[in-house]
Amino acid sequence: TSTADQRVAIVTGAASGIGRATAELFAERGHHVLAVDVDERGLAELTGGQVTLVGDVATEPVNLAAVRTALDLFGRVDTLVLNAGIGGTLPLEAPGAVERADRIFGVNLRGPIHGLRAAIPALRQTRGSVVVTASVAGLRGDPGNWAYNAAKGALINLVRAFAIDHAAEGVRVNALAPGLTRTGITAGVHRDPRVLAAIERRIPLGRLAEPVEQAEAVWFLASPAAGYITGTTLVVDGGLDAN
Ligand code: NAD
Repeated sequence: TSTADQRVAIVTGAASGIGRATAELFAERGHHVLAVDVDERGLAELTGGQVTLVGDVATEPVNLAAVRTALDLFGRVDTLVLNAGIGGTLPLEAPGAVERADRIFGVNLRGPIHGLRAAIPALRQTRGSVVVTASVAGLRGDPGNWAYNAAKGALINLVRAFAIDHAAEGVRVNALAPGLTRTGITAGVHRDPRVLAAIERRIPLGRLAEPVEQAEAVWFLASPAAGYITGTTLVVDGGLDAN
């Protein structure tokens, strides 16, 4: 296919984990991919010829630069995967807990707001689609995870609101809610065999997800097969939420 026929995806948090698997899956399946992350070394390890952009998605200039770069190089944006996210909630009374919460809100919530704001003119042109990585942690509280729970919960409702606001333009907006997935964020869990075993006992399918299993769900939500799906949250958690 010529460059003009190729679909174009922007993926944030693409240097590791779910974002990396998504950037690689979309490239494998013929998309031009612009991969955005703060981690320059991780971006350099991507396989699949993605164009990379180093920067913090909590800031407006990085989001504007991502869209501008995709338009300059590829002429269009079909899919926006707003996946960059951080955990690291501190106990409520710990020093710096509120500042840390602000940073968690900045990356996980303000990031996707800047992301859609920057990309919406381009998405309108292609009647494109947006997939935001939320979490099962946005559907309930976890022990010691209040800031992340709040950010991801707000993100799920933000996706519903954006879906309503942009439906008439043909732009679909959905959330992915991964359960525990083997990535950088859960490194502590899968490094300790006893912690891992205790967690796996709570998951009906008996194991953590692989990043590519989340990427496949992003692919589906972004694809024409999901053309009537907007404002929804797709839970990919091995049955955890059903338990
Ligand atoms: P990960 O740490 O492997 O990957 C996250 C990537 O985002 C990293 O490459 C990191 O450098 C990048 N990033 C962080 N802050 C950034 C910023 N400000 N600007 C640009 N890039 C930034 O973790 P992951 O599990 O692949 O996380 C991807 C998404 O999935 C996150 O939104 C996370 O909250 C969500 N999630 C993960 C799990 C899980 O169990 N792994 C479960 C539910 C939701």
